[in-house]
Amino acid sequence: MQDDVYTSRVTRGEDASSPDAGKESSAHEPLSNCEDTRAFDKDEKRKLPTTSRHPHGVIISHSKLRKIHRNVVDSNVALFQQSLRRIECVNTIALTLIILVSSRGCDHDMQLVHSLDHLNLIKSLSSKSVEEKKVIVKKWAKKSVYFYEESSDSACLAVDYVIKVKEKVFKGELDSAVAIVQPPGHHAEADKAIIFCLYNNIVIAASHIKKELKVSKIMIVDWDIHHGNGTQKSYWKDNTVLYFSVHRYDSGKFFPGGDVGSHNSIGEGEGKGFTINVPWPHGLYGDADYLVVWEHILLPVAHKFNSDIILISGGFDAGKNLIF
Ligand SMILES: [Zn+2]
Repeated sequence: MQDDVYTSRVTRGEDASSPDAGKESSAHEPLSNCEDTRAFDKDEKRKLPTTSRHPHGVIISHSKLRKIHRNVVDSNVALFQQSLRRIECVNTIALTLIILVSSRGCDHDMQLVHSLDHLNLIKSLSSKSVEEKKVIVKKWAKKSVYFYEESSDSACLAVDYVIKVKEKVFKGELDSAVAIVQPPGHHAEADKAIIFCLYNNIVIAASHIKKELKVSKIMIVDWDIHHGNGTQKSYWKDNTVLYFSVHRYDSGKFFPGGDVGSHNSIGEGEGKGFTINVPWPHGLYGDADYLVVWEHILLPVAHKFNSDIILISGGFDAGKNLIF
């Protein structure tokens, strides 16, 4: 598939795994190299929930651009390949409806979240030499920021896909949807890129929702193994967006470090009490522990806050043997 064309595969009906089910496009291609989940696809034919008005959606950044979002300081870092494999596995697990989209970029208003200086800097990356990029990286406190020749385009696409998902849900085409994108965004702050995160995708989406759709209350649930410092900072004094994060903390030694992910970090001013952190003290927590947190903290809080929409920062790096 060309990266600059719009291609979609949509499956509807009882047998969503059928290659011909409700397809909108004749352009098909393999979705995954994940052997385990491919076997699951074959044996367990998926059915759409009959109680749902609309199907759930998965929107996938199917672009070569995400593959070249690398660490400019250390080009030998190969962790991103593992991330790609994990994304491919998630693809096959989740689908009831799949939309593969490729677009040339995004022109969304990101000044709702990021400073103009930051936006101009990220946009200018493609025209800068590797040495110039290294100088930029070293300006930031966390020095291992990932960007490469096409990273600004890749980050822009990630924003675009998250916005597209948001629009499909709000137009009523889908009950819920997932954007599987690289690079992620929850560490990015208004004027700072951190690690893989150049733009804060979920905060940009939330800002658009608040501005365009007059939504009054948004809940953001972040289950990435790392604390979403950038997302938390964006709503630190805001009582209209509740930020809930479960993450590894290790007394402030686990990335992003410091006390921002502490249970004492609860917001300030009007936002006091609208940031909730559940910090794991080490890395040995598992499914049962997450379920306890969901049942005894997340769900009661969600019911009480009663948001108009829930956004999830679903980083999948908490799994065993998954580094990032
Ligand atoms: Zn993470």
